[in-house]
Amino acid sequence: MQLKTVLHRRFRDDSGVEFVYLANSAAILALDEPTAAVVDAFVHEDGVNSDPWVQAQPKPAAAESTLHDLIDLGAIRPVDEPAAPRADLPPMPFPLATLVLNVTNKCNLSCTYCYEYGEDKLTGDESSGKARMDDKTARDSIDFLMRSSGDRPQVSITFFGGETLLNFDAIKTATEYAEEQGNKNGKRVHYSLTTNATLLTDDIVDFLTSHRFGITISIDGDKDEQDRHRSYKSGKGSFDVIEPRIRNLLKKNKERNGRAVGARVTVTAGATPVVATYRYLVDDLGFDEVGFAPVTAGLGRDYALGEQGYERLLQEFGELGEEYVQAASRGESHGFSNLGDLVRELHQGVNKAHPCGAGLGLVGVSTEGEIGLCHRFVESKSHSIGTVQEGLDQAKRAAFLEQAHIDKKTDCTQCFARPLCAGGCYHEAHVRYGEATKANLHYCEWIRGFIDLGLKIYGRIQSTNPSFLARFDQQ
Ligand code: SF4
Ligand code: SF4
Repeated sequence: MQLKTVLHRRFRDDSGVEFVYLANSAAILALDEPTAAVVDAFVHEDGVNSDPWVQAQPKPAAAESTLHDLIDLGAIRPVDEPAAPRADLPPMPFPLATLVLNVTNKCNLSCTYCYEYGEDKLTGDESSGKARMDDKTARDSIDFLMRSSGDRPQVSITFFGGETLLNFDAIKTATEYAEEQGNKNGKRVHYSLTTNATLLTDDIVDFLTSHRFGITISIDGDKDEQDRHRSYKSGKGSFDVIEPRIRNLLKKNKERNGRAVGARVTVTAGATPVVATYRYLVDDLGFDEVGFAPVTAGLGRDYALGEQGYERLLQEFGELGEEYVQAASRGESHGFSNLGDLVRELHQGVNKAHPCGAGLGLVGVSTEGEIGLCHRFVESKSHSIGTVQEGLDQAKRAAFLEQAHIDKKTDCTQCFARPLCAGGCYHEAHVRYGEATKANLHYCEWIRGFIDLGLKIYGRIQSTNPSFLARFDQQ
């Protein structure tokens, strides 16, 4: 029978233990030497005839047994085996888990790279709707979430902007109403919010910590980095305003045993090294976690990361990865959240049909109650999929998800990173190619490089302190 190894990625840890990551199932297998040799022997586009191959081995019975094990594990398959039918969309209407409320579309900062206000704004010059979400729309949104989340016992509400805290009234109204409606409907509600920290007063900190908000602060690093791109419209930098407010938040949040507070750093061309930024944000300011996101940019923006920028980013991620492994070997957490998320997904065998939950378990709501795929698509009329008052346009939602399915992205068919990337962010694709369902082929090398890094680190943890990974076991 003609057999061949399925789409995969081979990698090894520092001590030389070999692993294989299988793209079809997202499984990771540790390979002893004879097993690794069998995996390699069947890497052939037209396949290898198994019977003569087995007979040619020094120990045919052992080779045949290993081959059968690998067939059972899905690592080696007959060449002419029909492809498994693609995963269908889950039955619609799929219950929502997360609602992202854009409580305002205004911001008090004027960050040079902002997709919301810069040259890559989705809505172009069309009117952006009301500046602030009113209390009625906030309540309508909660009602919509309660009736659109089916039997889910837990739901999440994320507040976003503009600068979210410019409309604290709507946050307060929505949270208090969600508590009431959650109790009535037997659902636990989780809250989170992203802010630039300029308006974090004591009262707001009290409110957020008492409702156990997950808080993410958009910050680019120390004073030089922060003020380089994140300034007021007057041109004045924002660092001196946010620094004492962040310290106050982190102190109070720790005292109250709140949830981890994360920093989100936008990485632009020529930015400070990632490692130094991480050190500053964790060691000096006291953040629990830091995530780095390459800036979203159309072609030709001078702040966009070029090829060298991505290479440097990967190298610096490797340096932070080293710290992550050392911490894991001691059984300790490390706050590099990009890697933490990736290791978790690898451990859980995540195999995505869609790159993210946008339009599936998550939708965004504009200040006027219009529903978009996620927070980045609200107010883009062409991506509207309903209103909180009238509900989701299920036909439009399903048509988008059908079109955005990984199996429709033919460029991704032969890519080992497919289970985790699934073509990448719809908003990035829209900015780059004018179409949300296109694969983000401009950053494949970066994604594959990062996933390679994650695989290697996963292998090292697996070899040195596998018990660390138990924290990622699904309940
Ligand atoms: S976008 Fe690129 S990296 Fe992502 S799955 Fe497709 S081919 Fe792979
Ligand atoms: S489309 Fe992009 S920005 Fe929106 S939820 Fe998905 S990954 Fe995030």
